[in-house]
This record gives sequence, structure tokens and C-alpha cells, in this order.
Amino acid sequence: MLDLLPAHFCTRWMVLLFWGGVISISASSSGQDTSSSGQKALVVGQKTNETGKSAENLILITVDGLRWQEVFGGADQRLMTKENGVRDVGGLRGKFWRETAEDRRERLLPFFWKTIAASGQIIGDPAKDSMANTTNGFDFSYPGYNEILTGRADPRVSSNSKTYNRNMTFLEWLNQRKNFQGRVAAFCSWDVFPFIINDKRSGIYVNAGWVPIEFGERGEVTALNRFAAESPRVWPNVRMDVFTVDGAIAYLKSRKPKVLYVAVGETDDWAHDGRYDMYLESAYRTDQYIQRIWKTLQSIPQYRDKTTMLLTTDHGRGDGREGWKNHGVIYPGSDRIWVAAIGQGVAPLGNRAGQNVEQSQIAATAVGLLGYDYAPDRPSGKSIDLLQSKPE
Ligand SMILES: [Zn+2]
Repeated sequence: MLDLLPAHFCTRWMVLLFWGGVISISASSSGQDTSSSGQKALVVGQKTNETGKSAENLILITVDGLRWQEVFGGADQRLMTKENGVRDVGGLRGKFWRETAEDRRERLLPFFWKTIAASGQIIGDPAKDSMANTTNGFDFSYPGYNEILTGRADPRVSSNSKTYNRNMTFLEWLNQRKNFQGRVAAFCSWDVFPFIINDKRSGIYVNAGWVPIEFGERGEVTALNRFAAESPRVWPNVRMDVFTVDGAIAYLKSRKPKVLYVAVGETDDWAHDGRYDMYLESAYRTDQYIQRIWKTLQSIPQYRDKTTMLLTTDHGRGDGREGWKNHGVIYPGSDRIWVAAIGQGVAPLGNRAGQNVEQSQIAATAVGLLGYDYAPDRPSGKSIDLLQSKPE
């Protein structure tokens, strides 16, 4: 069959054939190949991008239970107290407290507010008359991740137990498409994700919880696994996020997935533990992790200017001295989330005003950014319009 094709199609055709199989071949053909046929493959990709509609790669990042209050308002003065688990109140205030909400959020989440707000979008700020919310009615993790990943709330998904998800996620949906098969992966801190993504059925590589990193540069992987094995395990079912993120980056560099899901989780657990200092520090580190992932993407030809990064959370939390630690239907405000995006197909609209979006729209948005229409065969939330350029 190959010899029926015009010569200049060969490299691209081989890329398609080997996707999901021999990664090194696809990586060299799509990224570093400077032969004339390799250039042609790149030109085809760029042409799609010029329409401003499709990205070639998508990174979804979720930050478990990070409240909209901190995303849009930075550190909460009422919670920086001994009663909220803060060991060094003066130190924490010195690091994160500033007079205005704008200064505080930029201090806590500099990549969000200096880079994403400048080149991409953030949605859900009540001060901008925007709202992002869940529709699942439970406002805890599995129902939230199910809503994010499948595009639909499911009343049957009502516990965090390790039960294989009967619903198909957009990751699985993409993994069934020729262009994405074997090129979808997930790195997650929480060990329930193999069940949420149903790795058994979907065939998606899911590295979650305190399991070793398998892919990447050997020395780097060995070091990461040694550090993980020898560090204290604060939560047996949630890996420290640095291992999730650095494992994901090692995978990005070595396996070049087209779709990568990174789910970090420390923020939620520090909040449940009532440690507002650790919660803020974790949010701050997460912002740095997101920047690290973004910088890695920009350093690899396959991803540079051809990738969209989508960010959100599984649920909000309550408010006030006790409420912030928890979430769920009995804690008002737990349905309030936030959504952010940067990269190919995302107009630089910053902190968007007058937008109402739902968690169920993330899946269709992710798929839509890649140039596919998720809606026709999947009852799900509609894609969020990230290209809208009219003044708000
Ligand atoms: Zn939680």
C-alpha cells in the first residue's frame, strides 16, 4: 500500500502507521525531521493551525479543590490564622498577603495572572460577573472528574470508591480516533484515577498514586522514583504532586503524547487537613508546576505553538473558618469552580467578563480545540467559545 503513495506523503503516512507503536519514529518524523518530507508534514499541521481553530495537542490540568476565592482573590485574610492550621502566621502573611485582590492573586499564582491572563483566558470571577459551576449536585471528586472528563454529570456516580467508570471519557473517545490512538495518557496524584478513566477498558496509560514512574530519561526516572520511595507519605492514596508533574514531564519528553491529562491533588488534602498554610503553599507550587509544563511544551517542536493547555478544578469548597476545609452539597459554594486556557485556539481575552460556563462543557471544549465535534454522538455540555473576540 505504501508504494502506491506519492513519495512526499511517505513520512506522514509512516507517522500515522506508527502512532501508538514505535514512539521514537513518530517523534523524529513530526518533530526534529528536517528532510523535505518532514517539512511537508509540519506545513500540513501549521496550515490547520492558521485557521485559529485546531490545536494538534492538548494538555488538561486539574487542581483538586482549589477554590475560586484564592484563584481570583489570592490569600484569604480570615484564614491565615493559628486556628486554621497556620504555623507561622507572620511568615505566611508576609509571603502571600497584599492589599488588593489583584496583587494577592498575582503573588499566589504568578503564572496564572502574568502569563495565562495575558495570553489566554480565565473564567469564573464573580467580580467580573462570570460564573463557572458544576452540575453534578455532589461537589466531590469522582462526580466532578466524571463530569469534566465525560462532559456530563451522572447521578449514578455518587461515591469516591474505586469503581470502574461505566461512562466513556473524552480521553477514551479520542483514543479511539486514528490520530490519537495510543497517544493519550494521564498522570494523577490520586490513586482513584485508573478507575475514573477506566484504564482497563480504555487502554489509556494512567500513572496514578504512589506508583513508580516508568518512562523518561533513565537517570531522571531513577532519581524521581528514589525520592518518591524515600519521602514521607502524608496521604497513602495521594502522591505528592511534584512526582506526578515531573513524571508527566518525563513522559512528555520521551513519549510525546498528543493528549496528556495531569491531575494534581495536594490542595484538596491540605485543606481537608485544615492547614491553610500548606494549602496556599501547594497552590503556589502548583502554579510553578503549570509553568514548568508550559515551558517544556514550548521547548519541543511537536508542541510549540501547536498545543492548548486547559485548566480547571473538580469542585469548589465552602467558605468561612470551617467551611473552607470541606466541600459537598452541605457546604454552600462547593459548586463554584474556575476554568482557564492558554495556547492554540485560545484568544487572549484575559479574565473574562459576563461568562457563565459549566463543568460539563470541558470535555467538548477539549475535543473542540483539537478540531473535533464531541457533541453529535455524546450528550454533553457544549464547547466553550474561547475564540470570541468581540469586546466584553
Ligand atoms: Zn476533597
